[in-house]
Amino acid sequence: MALFAFFGLHQSAATVIKKVTPTFWWAGMDNPELQILLYGDNIASHDVSISAQGVELRDVVKQDNPNYLILYVDLSEAAPQTFNITLKKGKKATNIPYELKQRRPDSSKVKGFDASDVLYLIMPDRFANGNPDNDIVPGMLENKVDRNEQYGRHGGDLKGIEDHLDYLADLGVTAIWLNPTQENDMPEGSYHGYAITDYFQIDRRYGSNEDFLRMVNKAHEKGLKVVMDMIFNHCGSHNFLFKDKPSKDWFNFKSEYVGTSYKTASVQDVHASEYEYKIAVDGWFTQAMPDLNQRNRHVAKFLIQSSIWWIEYAGINGIRQDTHPYADYDFMARWCKEVNDEYPNFNIVGETWLNSNVLVSFWQKDSKLAAPRNSNLKTVMDFPLMEHMNKAFDEETSDWSGGLYRLYDYLTQDLVYADPMNLLTFLDNHDTSRFTTNDEKAKNLNRFKQAITFLLTTRGIPQIYYGTEILMTGDKSEGDGMLRKDFPGGWAGDSRNCFEASGRTAQEQEAFEFIKKVLNWRKGNEVIGKGTLKHFSINQGVYVYERKYNGKSVVVIMNGNDRKQDIPLKPYAEVLPKKQAKDMLSGKVVALDNQLTLGEREILVLEF
Ligand code: CA
Repeated sequence: MALFAFFGLHQSAATVIKKVTPTFWWAGMDNPELQILLYGDNIASHDVSISAQGVELRDVVKQDNPNYLILYVDLSEAAPQTFNITLKKGKKATNIPYELKQRRPDSSKVKGFDASDVLYLIMPDRFANGNPDNDIVPGMLENKVDRNEQYGRHGGDLKGIEDHLDYLADLGVTAIWLNPTQENDMPEGSYHGYAITDYFQIDRRYGSNEDFLRMVNKAHEKGLKVVMDMIFNHCGSHNFLFKDKPSKDWFNFKSEYVGTSYKTASVQDVHASEYEYKIAVDGWFTQAMPDLNQRNRHVAKFLIQSSIWWIEYAGINGIRQDTHPYADYDFMARWCKEVNDEYPNFNIVGETWLNSNVLVSFWQKDSKLAAPRNSNLKTVMDFPLMEHMNKAFDEETSDWSGGLYRLYDYLTQDLVYADPMNLLTFLDNHDTSRFTTNDEKAKNLNRFKQAITFLLTTRGIPQIYYGTEILMTGDKSEGDGMLRKDFPGGWAGDSRNCFEASGRTAQEQEAFEFIKKVLNWRKGNEVIGKGTLKHFSINQGVYVYERKYNGKSVVVIMNGNDRKQDIPLKPYAEVLPKKQAKDMLSGKVVALDNQLTLGEREILVLEF
């Protein structure tokens, strides 16, 4: 909002500045270099000067387009202040005030997310509409709301999330990941947020930047971390940087549309042709999402600053980076390093949608497969495990294939990962069919309970998708919008409210109570958050694994078949230190003699 007032201030002057990015910055950052991008009609012909204490103008870079000036200033000696950037042409001078704020105390120590957390993924347009007044913002390109239209705007917003922070804290998750909340002022189909038109502005249909900050602060008060979605590979075609490009090389293929192949395996493929590599990385995600050229040093700095800006401004705990392998590898590695240098405890998860552990592992920090290069990306997404989990709990398990064998077999290959505990694990997300694809699957609560128990007790950082707790369904074959249905009760006048037990069916309530129990048990449980994983091969369809930390352990025993099963316990002696243990799920004490009888699809979570 400040920018608009500022625009008005200078309307009478000859030189009109339309954009200044970043909108402000901070004194005392570890990296003293600041890029200030100025956008305004024909400003390139002006002389630029700065008069300020400790702020040194190092470079002024013109672009092909005379509407841009890119300044590089050194803030090594700068204290918090507001100084003037002066643009001078002939006798006419225009002053642009620029603020360097005081950093918040301990902002560099912001704590990222890790395996002690469970992330809850929310699509802001589809979760809850806390403020119907912002559903339609005059002047924005898509200015209607239609909840019957799967690709339309539905009106959800930050207030809707803020209003349900207690619900989420009570559910037992410890972090929320929001699909992008930055401005997407596009004519259509941008409700998902992945076509950013202003990197420094919350979409006004979700709220203001101040509303975002308040929501983050409230989340923190309730013990919830906040993970923000960012997109460096592309922006929306209505971004001013694309509509009036600084230069053609700000976007790949000289700013002309060429589609990506989506085949990013070519980045690590030792046999890849140059054609495959270039089309995957430089091709555009869609025509409405131009592909940013991060090899342009100004683009690179612009993007890096946009992420630092949100961390410093809002104190977010993590970033989920969209389409990570689609952007330039070296740039992304530099970005991760610069964020980590500024915020050593922060975490970033990259969307690494690749179909094998070999390919995913390549993207993780310290991967031996990528050496001597290093992505510096601490957390990658375990898409292969998602695929296995979506089959494992539907199939019968034998000792050599199918069902839970898939999970055991996949985890035996974890040596490929530099850090298995820092994998993001999930049953589904906003881009995939929901784990509960349809009503038929929703009826099978054994399937749900085994999947949730496994997800929340195996290695990694679990993420669940909003609505999982009430068995929300979604089938990708019916359209992406159907994966992102409105949470029942998020809108005034909804026929039922699933945020309350009274609004849930008996089946939904059983699922809700189950996941809530496991989540709350997991919260702060160091055996799961920090412990080692040791497992056994499938025996008579039963999967057994142990998590252990600091002398305490949890042993999960899961029957992968729809039949009663007796298993001998002798092979598991090394993880069964006592002759009995309490099962966390049922609360009952289980005798651990020579043999154990398990009911069909039974799960035991034994605590030692
Ligand atoms: Ca709204």
